[in-house]
Amino acid sequence: MGWLGNTADKLKRIFGGASRFLYPDACVGCGELLLRHEEVFCMACERFYAEASERECARCFRPRSRCICSRKSLEDAKIPRLVKLFTYRARQVDLPQNQLIFALKHHHRSDVRTFIASELSEAIREGIPRYERFALAYAPRGDRSILLDGYDHIRELSREISKELGITCLDAIGRRRGGEIQKKLSFHDRQRNMLGRFYLNDGVDIKGKSVFLIDDVVTSGATLVEAARVLYEGGAKEVVGVVIAATGRDELRRPRRYSIKYRTMK
Ligand SMILES: [Zn+2]
Ligand SMILES: [Zn+2]
Repeated sequence: MGWLGNTADKLKRIFGGASRFLYPDACVGCGELLLRHEEVFCMACERFYAEASERECARCFRPRSRCICSRKSLEDAKIPRLVKLFTYRARQVDLPQNQLIFALKHHHRSDVRTFIASELSEAIREGIPRYERFALAYAPRGDRSILLDGYDHIRELSREISKELGITCLDAIGRRRGGEIQKKLSFHDRQRNMLGRFYLNDGVDIKGKSVFLIDDVVTSGATLVEAARVLYEGGAKEVVGVVIAATGRDELRRPRRYSIKYRTMK
């Protein structure tokens, strides 16, 4: 019953509230009609997106879309480089750049997919020397999500990036059924939920290969960590993460006891 209820809610959210964004000539950020020269954003939303992707990284001082800084949890899992376009602000869903991810996930807008693929390809070309020797892999989404949206947007995006860069896209990773939807879980539950979720598909040879691992948003990093583990176990030489956006540290959901502590400290 719980699951059915969730599904109904989700469908309402996807098709009710955002139906205007389905229209291919509408700005993906605000739903306004696009002018001929505009790609997926109107001029106003484009400015938000540009500002987010050009914001300086506090570690390397490069613009966010040219920064390949990783984070502790990923570095520990031997993902020392992370290509990303911007920082995802989970509490501001309405931001045009967040809507970009929403449209890719839930609406079959090929123009949005092409836009993201070309932005990520550009970031890879700029950030990763000798990217041509890489193969590309992705962590497949769960059955429930695919059922709900009708397709695996990460798989589609991966194929488009591989085409644009002229590198091989491997269906390297399989996913076991079950588990909860990551989005609803706390940081630690996410790690636990993903543990052992993936496996290397039969007949896939990644020994000695450098691999780009594609995902949409890095929150806890649990998905990338688990997928990278499978790739390394299969003999991959190196894994570079490639995501549309990474949450800032402050966007991670803290366990309740910490949030209370933070509040009383102020
Ligand atoms: Zn707009
Ligand atoms: Zn950086």
